[in-house]
Amino acid sequence: MTVPRENKLVRFYIHLRDLEEPSLQHPGCSPAVILEKAKNIMRPYSLAYRHCDWWSVYSAIYLLSSSVFLAGDAAHTHSPKGGQGMNVSIQDTYNLLWKLGEVISNGADPIILETYDSERRPVAKQLMTLDSCLVQAYEEEEDMSRGIYEIRDQYAGFMAGTEITYPNSMLITGEGEAAVPKLAKNLKLGMRLSSFPVVYQCDGVPIHITQILVSDGAWRLLVFSGDLRKLERITALSHFAESFSKRPNLAHRLQKQSQEFLPIMELLLIQSSPRSALNLLELPELFHPFDDTMGWDYWKTFTDDQNKAYTGYGIDEGGPGCLILCRPDQHVAWIGSMEDTAGLNSYFSTFAGSLG
Ligand SMILES: Cc1cc2nc3c(=O)[nH]c(=O)nc-3n(C[C@H](O)[C@H](O)[C@H](O)COP(=O)(O)OP(=O)(O)OC[C@H]3O[C@@H](n4cnc5c(N)ncnc54)[C@H](O)[C@@H]3O)c2cc1C
Repeated sequence: MTVPRENKLVRFYIHLRDLEEPSLQHPGCSPAVILEKAKNIMRPYSLAYRHCDWWSVYSAIYLLSSSVFLAGDAAHTHSPKGGQGMNVSIQDTYNLLWKLGEVISNGADPIILETYDSERRPVAKQLMTLDSCLVQAYEEEEDMSRGIYEIRDQYAGFMAGTEITYPNSMLITGEGEAAVPKLAKNLKLGMRLSSFPVVYQCDGVPIHITQILVSDGAWRLLVFSGDLRKLERITALSHFAESFSKRPNLAHRLQKQSQEFLPIMELLLIQSSPRSALNLLELPELFHPFDDTMGWDYWKTFTDDQNKAYTGYGIDEGGPGCLILCRPDQHVAWIGSMEDTAGLNSYFSTFAGSLG
């Protein structure tokens, strides 16, 4: 495989095949040895070079270990043909680090760390299957590009990272075992939250939902209240706020443990009435909280009067309201109704430690 690069360079990916052979091992290998391999591959064309900018031998060892936390290439190396190694490596550590943070800083039960393996190992295995399919397709002589495009199409969602869905565990649970929760018909528990545009209630600035879910280690509870011009919806929201504040595993998650730390959870309201129809200050204070240093926070309430997010997630805008809990890595952890603060509380009680 060849890739044109910057500065008049071209990169050759040369499959060495037999790394058992001492001359192909690193150290011991050399550009001359690699060139011989490349020449064989390129026959009947000839290949020579005058300037080698950089070379390396990259050994794919297809290793999965369970005794320590291995992440990235230490856990799964493969050929670079799919351009996936860095993406998957970053997601490994993203998955592991927020859980370590939850245990070390928030006192969560270390048992949650077991989900690192149950969630990331299947992804690593899928990556290796993709890689061996690609390697095989590159090696097949006939109709090579068609095979590669088919594989890329088949794995498009995996390669983009948007189709990665974690299995049920103590961190992925809600509405029983239902694969498609009825309150948000287009969401699956464990999937990475898909994104739709909404508008800030305070200033009318549009933003995508996943842009609001900043990677800072905090959980996010998205509250879909429906149209707050309706009396029953605003009443339901007030009941939610009151009930949420009384739940031991929930309310304190919104508080900072100290000045240096962010709150463990952020509450975001996405309502569906027109922006101008609603006075933000009349909403429960949970949705415009006050901080001694930073003052009032008006950036936690959004309007979706175009129903893009409601439709996108499959939430009935005229229904009973819906809560979507996103983990710090943006995967959907729990889905429930706005009345079910008890269910949300028990979600956290299965692993939350002394700090909740
Ligand atoms: C040619 C090529 C092209 C690629 N292209 C892509 C691409 O387009 N997209 C993509 O997603 N991925 C690509 N990859 C894969 C990607 O580079 C790797 O998957 C990714 O860098 C793995 O990250 P990592 O942190 O796990 O390991 P590394 O990036 O290898 O980091 C490990 C670090 O640990 C250090 N280290 C090793 N041993 C020790 C030690 N004993 N003590 C202290 N430090 C040590 C190393 O020096 C290194 O800095 C490519 C790889 C290659 C080789």
